[in-house]
Amino acid sequence: MSRVYNFSAGPSMLPEPVLKQAAAEMLDYHGCGQSVMEMSHRSKVFDDIIKGAEALLRELMNIPDNYKVLFLQGGASTQFAAIPLNFMNGSGKADYVITGQWAKKAFAEAQKYGDVKAVASSADKTFSYIPKLDKSTFTPDADYFYICMNNTIYGTVYHELPDTGKVPLIADISSCFLSEPLDVTKFGMVYGGAQKNVAPAGLTICIIREDLLGNARDITPTMLNYKVHADANSLYNTPPCYTIYICKLVLEWLKANGGLEAMKERNVKKAKLLYDFLDNSKMFRGTVVPEDRSLMNVPFVTDSDELNAKFVKEATDAGLVNLKGHRTVGGMRASIYNAMPYEGVQALVDFMAKFEKENA
Ligand SMILES: *Cc1c(COP(=O)(O)O)cnc(C)c1O
Repeated sequence: MSRVYNFSAGPSMLPEPVLKQAAAEMLDYHGCGQSVMEMSHRSKVFDDIIKGAEALLRELMNIPDNYKVLFLQGGASTQFAAIPLNFMNGSGKADYVITGQWAKKAFAEAQKYGDVKAVASSADKTFSYIPKLDKSTFTPDADYFYICMNNTIYGTVYHELPDTGKVPLIADISSCFLSEPLDVTKFGMVYGGAQKNVAPAGLTICIIREDLLGNARDITPTMLNYKVHADANSLYNTPPCYTIYICKLVLEWLKANGGLEAMKERNVKKAKLLYDFLDNSKMFRGTVVPEDRSLMNVPFVTDSDELNAKFVKEATDAGLVNLKGHRTVGGMRASIYNAMPYEGVQALVDFMAKFEKENA
C-alpha cells in the first residue's frame, strides 16, 4: 500500500491512526457485533459516541457551558441561510465582511432575508488580504456581524477579530477548525463543515451561545432551526452517525497529540517551512500579503500558466496530489491541515526546489 500526500482543500487528509482504528472497528464496534454505520442513532452505544465527541470537543476548544454544540448535516453552505433565519430577528440588519467566495455566498444568501451590508471587501485584489475594518462603518443595531475566519480558497486568515461590541460575532471556521486555540467567548456562534479538518464530509458543527437561540423566524424550516436541534441534543432526526464517530476518533487523536496548543505549534512549523521557501524562491511566490497568511491554505503561483500546469502534473506523479489552485485564483494551493505531517510539507518543498532547478 502506498499513500500519497493529499493537499486537497477538502475533503482532505485524515490522521492515519484514525483511519486504521476505523478499519479495525469496521465490522464489530467494541464487541457490539455491528458497525457504527449500522447501529441505531437511538442506541446506548451511539449515545456514548455522540456524547463522547461533544465532551472532547468542549474540552479541546474550552467551550463554556453557556454554548450549545450541534452536530448537523447540510454543510457549511446550509448555515448561510440558517444564520439569518435564526438570528436576523431584531432590527433585521446584519454586517458582512467580504473576504472571498464563502463570505460572498453567505452574504448573498442573507440578502434574501434582510437588510445586509458589506462593511468591507478585499475583492479589489482577488481577496489576497483581510481588509482593515473601520468600526464607524459597522451597523450599531445589527443583529449580528459575520466573518469567514479562514479563507480556504485565497489563503487569508484574521489574526485579529473585529471589535463588534454588543453585536454578536458569527464566524465560519470551516477551514481552521481545531487548527489552533480559539477563544469561543468572543463569538455568538462559530461553525464549520467538518470535511476540512475534523472528519469526513457530511457533518457540520455549530457552536452557539445559548441566549441567541429561540428567536428564529416563523418561516424557518424546522430542520434549520438551531433551537430544535439544541433541545434534541442533535438527535431531532438521524444525525450523520458514522461521520460523528470518525470526528470522535479525530478528537481523541488531537487530545493524545497534545491538544490545540500542540497542534498550533505543529501547524506554524509546517506553514513556516513552505512560506520560507516561497519567500526565497525565484520561480514560486505566495499570493497573499504576509501579514494575513493562513496556516492552513497556502496558494502560490509561478509567472507562467504552462509552468503551473507542468508543476501540478509532475507533483501528482510524485505522489503530491490535489495541488491545483481554485479555478478563481489559478496556480497552486497546498492545504496543510492538522492531518498533514511535517514530512508531507518537507516532501513538497523538496519537490518544488527540484522543479525550480530543472526548469530555471
Ligand atoms: C468548504 C467551505 C465551505 C463550504 O462547505 P460545504 O460543507 O461544502 O457547504 C464554506 N466555508 C468555508 C470557509 C469553506 O472552506
